[in-house]
Amino acid sequence: MDAIQFITGATFGKGNLIFRDYGKHVYTFYNRSTGKGVRISENYGGFEKRCTVPELKKRQDAGEDVSLEMEQFKMEKTAAILRADDKDFLNIELVTTPPPSFAKIRASVRCARCSERFMESRGRVKGGKIVCIPCFEKN
Ligand SMILES: [Zn+2]
Repeated sequence: MDAIQFITGATFGKGNLIFRDYGKHVYTFYNRSTGKGVRISENYGGFEKRCTVPELKKRQDAGEDVSLEMEQFKMEKTAAILRADDKDFLNIELVTTPPPSFAKIRASVRCARCSERFMESRGRVKGGKIVCIPCFEKN
């Protein structure tokens, strides 16, 4: 996410970087002036390795020191990615769905418990008062 913010200039703060927690490494970029978009996802078939990180993690969990092998694996994977064509490890597709709507500026309210301000839509009701999520979750 840091690299995407640096390269594109899109940020969470500006509201033009939208995170959807689907647990996937998939990135969709839109150009609002053309309405066109591109979706980039990992091509898992591209880089099969003899010794995968899950195997190393299993050995690490069993008490084995695998730090050198882990470092070696990361260096090999990085080198392979840098040598490869984009299509060898990425799926790049044009997107036909419209870009997401512009970020809405929402009113903020003050928490009845801690007095900190928060986005109105994140408010919770506790004891008949509007509070922030952390205060709602505290006893
Ligand atoms: Zn609060």
